[in-house]
Amino acid sequence: MADIIHLLPEHVANQIAAGEVVQRPSSVVKELLENAIDADATEIKLIVKDAGKTLVQVIDNGKGMSVTDARLSFERHATSKIKAAEDLFQLNTKGFRGEALASIAAIAHVELKTKQLHQDLGTAIEIEGSEVKSQDVSVTPTGTSVAVKNLFFNIPARRNFLKSDTVELRHVTDEFHRVALAHPNIAFNFYHNGSELFNLPKENYRQRVVHIFGPKTNEKLVPVEEQTEVLKISGFVGKPEFSKKTKSEQFFFVNQRFVKSPYLNHAVNAAYEGLLKDRYHPSYFLNLTVDPKTIDINIHPTKTEIKFDDEHTLYAIIRSSIKHSLGQFNIAPVLDFEQQSQFNTPYGYRHRQASTPKIEVDRNFNPFKDENSHTLGQRQSSFRQGPTAKWESLYVGLESKEGDNLSQHNSDEFTFETQSKTHSIFSDDAVETSKTTFQLQQKYIVSTLKSGMLIIDQNRAHQRILYENFLKHMTLKEATTQQLLFPLHLNVTPSEMKIIRDLKSDLEDTGFVFTDFSKIEVTVTGVPIGVPESEVSIIIEQLISDVENDVPEANFSATDLLAKSMAKSLAIKNGQPLNNAEQEHMVNSLFACKDPSVSPTNRPTFITMAIDDLEKRFM
Ligand code: ADP
Ligand code: MG
Repeated sequence: MADIIHLLPEHVANQIAAGEVVQRPSSVVKELLENAIDADATEIKLIVKDAGKTLVQVIDNGKGMSVTDARLSFERHATSKIKAAEDLFQLNTKGFRGEALASIAAIAHVELKTKQLHQDLGTAIEIEGSEVKSQDVSVTPTGTSVAVKNLFFNIPARRNFLKSDTVELRHVTDEFHRVALAHPNIAFNFYHNGSELFNLPKENYRQRVVHIFGPKTNEKLVPVEEQTEVLKISGFVGKPEFSKKTKSEQFFFVNQRFVKSPYLNHAVNAAYEGLLKDRYHPSYFLNLTVDPKTIDINIHPTKTEIKFDDEHTLYAIIRSSIKHSLGQFNIAPVLDFEQQSQFNTPYGYRHRQASTPKIEVDRNFNPFKDENSHTLGQRQSSFRQGPTAKWESLYVGLESKEGDNLSQHNSDEFTFETQSKTHSIFSDDAVETSKTTFQLQQKYIVSTLKSGMLIIDQNRAHQRILYENFLKHMTLKEATTQQLLFPLHLNVTPSEMKIIRDLKSDLEDTGFVFTDFSKIEVTVTGVPIGVPESEVSIIIEQLISDVENDVPEANFSATDLLAKSMAKSLAIKNGQPLNNAEQEHMVNSLFACKDPSVSPTNRPTFITMAIDDLEKRFM
């Protein structure tokens, strides 16, 4: 009888392997992004069409491949990342199975272009269903571009199994979030069907979280920072009152790799015990760093599950560090600094006492007393503030002028130590922890940095914050309007009227609603949320004069001008007292801006004084 066992042809084996690696377009996104990161790219572009069904392309500026490597990269078990089985336990890269490209090439049309730094010319390869269609010398920038087209073209059943574009795009976006969150030091762009969904510069972790999840996220975040012998934790958890009905903001990264771990998730939930409403889930963005020897990430082909050697210890550490952070911010001790009455710290939190979550935390409890008490002792991060402070007010002109409550409270009653973890101002390692902020001359916010001192001009900083916020609303056309009870009639000259008409649609994108235009009168029935009625005519006058005075330049943009003008009108002025929560929010919001260092009119928003400079001055 003839032999019946035969080896599967390579392309069939690849297709089978592909089933494990590539379930949907988002799997391709993950593999390609990870390869780009492993290639030490600092800038990565993700281009997607039709939720990835038509195209997933990743372009990186990484180290590229030689001609031979480019060809070999499509072979199964071709990897540059491990050589022997032992290497698996020392893994610092994402990939190691050497299957991704081979699998993807088995079920799609793939175009690879790659060039190494020292080469003049690169390589271009086209593969369809594991078959090499062409290989050429190519003029291409240093780095690699992999375009994956027509996914599952040769497996109609799989293709039909794909969900709607909306669903697939959500998977792609989730994958993008995970990778982008794990690598704030890499710049990412993400385009879908020609429009840019994300443009993330190299930034610090807080900025990255805020960039991805929106400016409102900033106020939710409580820093978590802990270092023990077995584990380093850093990142943020959400304040309990911002918990969500979905688990969409829960991220664990282990050694910069997104993982799902129900067990560690449980540890986080345990830290929130008694603080969450039923069926609400805390947000968290936590980075764990452990010795690669103590984990096994090899147990799942798509590598989001993980096995730890010592889960119990990790559980305890995670739970207690988060508890500590939450406790610190809920029941902050009073800082001497803040008790000095001459500081401008009006604590207008009359109505807020009742809503402070009642939790008891033994602040002397130290789970690591034996081995690591010093690290806790030196803990720098702390985030304490009133849970229901009117944070949004900073975005909309700070109407919550609560300074008049000042005299009714003594500052022992409500104290806020300002947040420590501000943002990268110079470079990531220079970022450090200002312990406190205070206001100087009702004009400057002074804060400390690890490397010295930070002085922020409150007016310019707020202009920057409002400006970016308005620009965003205008571009995304997502502004919210507040209807006026009584329509406002503004008298204008004909030339002013022309300007208003020209800007009408931009103004409406910020939230203004105009009804009647006569020759000399405009009727306003709605204003952007937060804009006080009394300011409306001032804003419009200011705007008109700005347009009249601004000689339109080549790249004149009405949107930009409008955003600048409104920011100028609405920004808090010098002389406005700010309480600590507001100061702190200002600092945070400023450094969550895309360009925190200058005002919309290009003047510096803050200056810093390095310790070195200080020391020189004392010589
Ligand atoms: P793995 O990542 O598991 O090694 P892949 O199939 O994803 O396997 O990639 C195979 C090999 O191709 C990698 O080990 C790497 O050497 C090379 N490679 C893939 N993508 C890139 C890239 N964007 N830049 C440089 N080299 C790459
Ligand atoms: Mg890979």
